[in-house]
This record gives sequence, C-alpha cells and structure tokens, in this order.
Amino acid sequence: MSKLTPETRRKIGRGTRLVHAGRDPEEQHGFVNMPPWRGSTVLFPTYASLSARTQRYSYGTKGTPSSEALENAWTEISGAAQTVLAPTGLAAIALALLTAAKSGDHILVADSAYLPTRQFCDTILKRMGVETQYFDPQVGAGIEALFRPNTSLVLMEAPGSQSFEMQDVPAIAAAARKIGACAIMDNTWATPLFFPPHEHGVDLAIEAGTKYLSGHSDLMMGMVSANEAWRKRLRETYDCFAMCAGPEDIFLALRGLRTMELRLREAERRGLALAYWFAARPEVKEVLHPALPSHPGHAIWKRDFSGSSGLFSIILKPVPEKAVAAMLDGLELFGMGYSWGGFESLVIPFNCASYRTATIWNPGGPALRFQVGLEDFEDLTADLEKGFERLRGTA
Ligand SMILES: *Cc1c(COP(=O)(O)O)cnc(C)c1O
Repeated sequence: MSKLTPETRRKIGRGTRLVHAGRDPEEQHGFVNMPPWRGSTVLFPTYASLSARTQRYSYGTKGTPSSEALENAWTEISGAAQTVLAPTGLAAIALALLTAAKSGDHILVADSAYLPTRQFCDTILKRMGVETQYFDPQVGAGIEALFRPNTSLVLMEAPGSQSFEMQDVPAIAAAARKIGACAIMDNTWATPLFFPPHEHGVDLAIEAGTKYLSGHSDLMMGMVSANEAWRKRLRETYDCFAMCAGPEDIFLALRGLRTMELRLREAERRGLALAYWFAARPEVKEVLHPALPSHPGHAIWKRDFSGSSGLFSIILKPVPEKAVAAMLDGLELFGMGYSWGGFESLVIPFNCASYRTATIWNPGGPALRFQVGLEDFEDLTADLEKGFERLRGTA
C-alpha cells in the first residue's frame, strides 16, 4: 500500500502527484523506482485460481505492474477514468479512432492534425467505410454545421501540428456531446499539465509520451485516456489489439514522469524567450506561438491553457530555398530531425500546402519548426545569428 492516505491523495498538488503517482516503494522492498516487469506467462497457483479469473495479473498482454503503474499515474494526472498505453503516439491515435468509429460513419478531423493521423483516416478508415471530413481548426462552435446523422467523432489537436492554429476545444467538445459523438483530442503539445483535457469536455485524449513524458528522445510511447463515458469501450478495444508498450519504455516513461513539470516549465520559459527573440529579427515574417499576444489563437490559449511548451514555428520573409538550406546546414547546436520534447534543440523545415484540404496554407515565406532544448540560451541565439548571416549571404 502506498503511504499516502486516500484523503492526502485527493488533496495533493500537481508536483506532489507527479512524484507519487503510480509508485509504491513498499511493494518493492523499499526501492523507490519500479523495475521493468517483463513477461508473457503468469502462473496460477491452483486450478481454482485459474478458473476464477480473478488473479490480478493473468498474461503479459493483460497488464503488468509496470504498465499498470504508468496507466494509473497518467489517469491521475489527466483527471481521467482510464488510461491505456500504446507502443507509440501514432498507435494511440489509431486506437482512439478505432474505439469510436465504425463502418458507415462520418468523422470530422481538424485540418491541422498530425499528418500521420490524416494518413490513418485516408487509408485504414477509408477502407473500413468511414468517411473523413477535414475541418478548419478555427471553426469553433460552427462545427455543428458540419454534423451529419452518422457523425461519430470529432478529432481535435490544439495547437495544430507544425502550424499552431488554436482550437476552441470546449466549444467543439460540447457540440459533439450534444449529438453523442466522441470528442477526441491529441493533447501532445500541452500535456495534461498545461491542458487537462477531460475537464474541457474531451472524451478520449491522446498523448505521444515519446515527446515530453520521455524528455530524452530515448523511448516511444503513446497513451489514450478516457473519461467515465468512454472508459469501457476504450479498454475493450485495447484488449482486442493487445497493442502493448514495451517494459523498458514504460520504465523510462515512469522515470520521466517525475521531472516532467520541471522540464515543461523550463521548455516554456526557453520557448517563449526564443519566440520573442525571433519576433525581433528582421529576417522573420511571423512567429507561430500561441502564447504570443500576436498569435490569432492567443485569446483561446490564454483562456484554456495554463502554459506553453517549447515547440513553435516561424515564417521567414521570402528567400530562395538554397538560402534556407545554407542557414540550416551550418547550424551546430540545432539538430535537424523529427520528434521533439527532448533535451536537444531541433529544427525542421515544413510545408503544409500539399496536404491540407479544408484550409489554405500560404504563409508567404519558408516555414521552420523549432524545438528548444536545454542548451545555454546565448549559445542557441549565437548559432542562429550565424545561421541568419548565411541566410542573408545567399539570399
Ligand atoms: C509525435 C506526435 C505524435 C506521434 O507520436 P509517435 O510516438 O512519434 O508515434 C502524435 N501526435 C503529435 C501531435 C505528435 O507531435
């Protein structure tokens, strides 16, 4: 048993919760962290115990002390009724969609959703006879006009992948609830620490634990959390797939959980500092960061979110592609690569024009997405300063 009384557990603040959730040193001889539990077979001591099906653990795919610890911890910090773990963030998205969609349904997906989410809808769901309609992320309560009698879910992501449009999650979720559709949200950017999704009406929330839960670019993990209304359906779908996360990744994720708030606050501070630094640069046309008052979704962000993370984008004033290549190729501290939420600063160029269908992506210059890491801020800006020199030199 955990040392925390139920009453204490109910009252504790978020930092305390992150330290204690899913952890019980007494159950592991006093060692403070749970080891990675591995296994397929679980033995039953007697015929009767096997027949009764009441043993806490019964098979590797049905849960281990490791998976249960992370699920319970995530449920607690998300304000959810249930969490299931998936091997990646994308697997978690697939699981959430398959929990709520069936053949013949019409579903609504934000045009700014993570590109592989769209690809899942456009291939697997299409083959299953599910029709996906993409919507302008800024539609708000206007989503109602898009509902059809067979609309079964709405998938939101705020802010949007790469382009950072904000969405009015409470308004969209409330509209979905009225027609009995499932409100799904990919909450990877804010995490439940900056946006508790279920408090805002979300039924199924997705988190790519690969990002800030990990914090070190060394694991892959996905979580789907459900409110009371959707917990049974989620668990049932999950158990049919046995789409389990690996024990080593769960171990590392639990480790990451303890410092997650600290890392997120630091990512927020540095992300904002870098965003303002870019905003003052003559080479930059626009900074896409919802915590900046200049952002079109700033009011919504301020109303609903209690923080921002260290991922945002900028739009450069028009320059030839080779100028952008010269800028990025010479960067010494910014790695060029996908994913984010780790300790290292990263950059990628992006262009949403080829795949957005409900909105037009025409930012008027090359677009770059930045993830701010834990390097010294002056070193990062010195690296970027030289990058801008290369950009101008070849422009
Ligand atoms: C990275 C990401 C995912 C997918 O996570 P993986 O673990 O890489 O599969 C899903 N949603 C968003 C918003 C992401 O940024």
